[in-house]
Amino acid sequence: MPASDRRNVVLLGATGSIGSSTLQVLRQHQDRLNLVGVAAGSNYQALAQICTEFGVRHAALGDDSVYPEAQAHFDSQVELHCGAAGLEEVATLAEADIVLVAVVGATGLRPTLAAIEAGKDIALANKELLVLGGAHVIEAAERKGVRLLPTDSEHNAIFQCLEGRPMAHLDQVILTASGGQFRDTPLAELSRVTPDEATRHPNWSMGPKITVDSATMANKGLELIEAHWLFGLEPERLKVVIHPQSIVHSLVQLIDGSILAQLSPPSMTFAIQHCLLYPHRAASVLPTTDFGEMLQLDFSPPDLQRYPCLELAYQALKTGGAAPAVYNAANEVAVDRFLNKKLGFLEIPQVIEHCLEGVAAMTSPTLDQLFAIDAETRTLARSCY
Ligand code: NAD
Ligand code: MG
Repeated sequence: MPASDRRNVVLLGATGSIGSSTLQVLRQHQDRLNLVGVAAGSNYQALAQICTEFGVRHAALGDDSVYPEAQAHFDSQVELHCGAAGLEEVATLAEADIVLVAVVGATGLRPTLAAIEAGKDIALANKELLVLGGAHVIEAAERKGVRLLPTDSEHNAIFQCLEGRPMAHLDQVILTASGGQFRDTPLAELSRVTPDEATRHPNWSMGPKITVDSATMANKGLELIEAHWLFGLEPERLKVVIHPQSIVHSLVQLIDGSILAQLSPPSMTFAIQHCLLYPHRAASVLPTTDFGEMLQLDFSPPDLQRYPCLELAYQALKTGGAAPAVYNAANEVAVDRFLNKKLGFLEIPQVIEHCLEGVAAMTSPTLDQLFAIDAETRTLARSCY
């Protein structure tokens, strides 16, 4: 394939867990994919190394306080941007075809909207930005006619199962959840779990925030809301099932009772590659599930007493308006405080519940109103405990 036919990729969140899986995909498919821009929070050493390895000319650091010391670490041909504006600069590079959004948290919203407005296709790993601004992201993507490719493994599975089918054939989607690292921990012991224990997932190797979200199942709560926006489904048609092996990434139930699933090992490289090469298919980075070996797949309904964050997400989705934004901001603050040992594990859902009760309801909030609600919720959440 001639170099000019390669797809130019921008990777926001290049130094994180999704970022490093994406680099694996890029190394394997250099004939089709070309990295042209990268961004990270503050880890400039790792970002500079990525620029050198892939010959990237545009980089951005979200944390502008490290910019002065960072510059010397980059090759002279790299243009280094910084702060929120720097992220937008890289997300809208003229030569970019697709932007993979893998920064963590609501920070991802503005650069994603900017990329859509610039006509870029989006591969979306970040879920918080859809929970905060889903209506605006979907509206912008439809108006600009860009692809919004779901990279979160569950949504990627649903997308693959639904492809080419009329939505009228769909009855419901069933999101699988591993149940996290405390799935079998006695409820009485949950109050004592430490950040160290909560950031070790049995199946997936992921960043700290999503690993804690996985343990509380706020991750699945965020994913319900993400599925609502990506597939236009009401909460009644979004189900969750515990599947400890993380091999079935989600299921789609059709109106005639047939249920379709997508399977692959628990590595994000499968979903990332699917999005970056879409609709082309090529050999995977890692071997896939081997049916020549003994394979056990278990499914069970979630215990809502164990996972109050899941129930709160259904509530936020049913309330609509600004409630999902409140849910997300409260959770981001609570997880951060838990990781910094300022909050107990069982207090995470309590912070979310308190914020959902304490922030004014609002129907169809504008983007500015959502950012204001996000900020207000963060202040309220910090004042809890
Ligand atoms: P991570 O913590 O490993 O990495 C986060 C990345 O975002 C890092 O590169 C960091 O430098 C960057 N970042 C943080 N703040 C920034 C800022 N202000 N400006 C620019 N960059 C910033 O997180 P992760 O596990 O890779 O998750 C990233 C996103 O993908 C999250 O939204 C998560 O929910 C989603 N996701 C992750 C996985 C997974 O397997 N890790 C799976 C599905 C979805
Ligand atoms: Mg997921």
